[in-house]
Amino acid sequence: MLYNKSMKELSELLDKKEIKSLDIADELINRTEKIEPKIHSYITFDQEKFKEQAKKSDERRASGKSLSKFDGIPIALKDNIAVKDVKLSCGSKILGDFMSPYNATVTEKLTDSGFVISGKTNLDEFAMGSTTESSFYGVTKNPHNTDKVPGGSSGGSAAAVSASLVPASLGSDTGGSIRLPASFCGVVGIKPTYGRVSRFGLVAYASSLDQIGTFARSVDDAADLLSVISGYDKKDSTSAEGSIDFSSDKLSGDVKGLRIGLPDEYFNGVGAEISDAVMNAVKELEKKGAVIEKISLKMTEYAVPVYYLIATSEASSNLSRFDGIRYGRRPDGVESLSDLYEKARSEGFGGEVKRRIVLGTYSLSSGYYDAYYLKALKGRTLIINDFKEAYKKCDVIMSPVAANTAFGIGEKMNDPLAMYLSDILTISANLAGVPGISVPVGLDSQKMPIGLQIMGNYFKERDILNAAKAVEGVFGKYEPQI
Ligand code: GLN
Repeated sequence: MLYNKSMKELSELLDKKEIKSLDIADELINRTEKIEPKIHSYITFDQEKFKEQAKKSDERRASGKSLSKFDGIPIALKDNIAVKDVKLSCGSKILGDFMSPYNATVTEKLTDSGFVISGKTNLDEFAMGSTTESSFYGVTKNPHNTDKVPGGSSGGSAAAVSASLVPASLGSDTGGSIRLPASFCGVVGIKPTYGRVSRFGLVAYASSLDQIGTFARSVDDAADLLSVISGYDKKDSTSAEGSIDFSSDKLSGDVKGLRIGLPDEYFNGVGAEISDAVMNAVKELEKKGAVIEKISLKMTEYAVPVYYLIATSEASSNLSRFDGIRYGRRPDGVESLSDLYEKARSEGFGGEVKRRIVLGTYSLSSGYYDAYYLKALKGRTLIINDFKEAYKKCDVIMSPVAANTAFGIGEKMNDPLAMYLSDILTISANLAGVPGISVPVGLDSQKMPIGLQIMGNYFKERDILNAAKAVEGVFGKYEPQI
């Protein structure tokens, strides 16, 4: 059985020539044929392309020219990340069958290391959402219970890894879209420091918040994959230098002396099973030598309004390129330019995306700019200051990822405010730009996974990965029975 092996295990088997990349691809294709109809994690899954890349990797290994130790390992990409000559949909109708003419920087980095791209995964339309229900391509289901949401917006990437259709995947996180689905699906998901990973070729939602990150079934794999895609890129003016010191061989799981900050604000209104699981994990770390510090992130109550003003304002500007001319399907039978814009956008965008564009346009409009957008920027500064203060007292901050475990499909779809509130514990990390991880630390009474969130200081991915490694697996396994 290869399908549930980690990247690390597969890489060792490939190295010892006990298996070929094509064996992995064949097995994952069979498994995907069986499981995918139940969960719908992919938008594009092209078996022939998958096998073709695996064969090429096998040829490289056979001739002693493997590109890295991961040459031949399959990986899935969220469908808002560009892969040349592959459909790029962003889960939206407006892009139709748009084929990307170029690779994102992360895609280049993956293929330069020999990774095999299995396909493109489902997401909330333009990554706006917390459940993967707003995709034009249909709902993704949680492999632990297919009546429940997988979380979002990178729900397809999380579900595919959780159901062992692929060992690892990439997602994007603007306000929690990696950490929330990772916690709902029982996998590891990390959002790096803003600037750590190039955004070139990631379709922009809110540019000052968006980051690409990784999903895997182990902390080591999430760390190794993140090491491959990280680094400065001149094609992204907000990308940053920073030493990439968090590959799995650098993670000891040693937490002696690590100062863990616990913010009261992050435990308000959280379900008892969740706060118990989080506190059990914290105690486990304490046993291993970590020290607990009480901290306060007092601006937390403003995070949701601040985020939803900034994110929608940026989105309203970023999404103006989908006008039926530069991008987007050009509608028939239009009489004027404005008619064309109107038709293309009203037919092409779904309800949630339209709501965000309207909200963001309003907050940026003259007369309201000062009261909304500018005020939100000031709020963001206060949230950043909160984190800076907190990191004087601690090295990492721990909290739940969400106040609840995965909820039922359809439960929050007609209540946008309830949906926005699902992000309350994850969005501050994006506003501040600090890294955050979700690592599974238990199951609730309904057997749904619970995630521990660990946030770190800027460019201290190693701290959070190390702490995650110290609790990983202590409270059980999180393979769904599917
Ligand atoms: N749920 C949040 C939103 O809809 C976060 C989405 C994300 O991180 N892409 O904006």
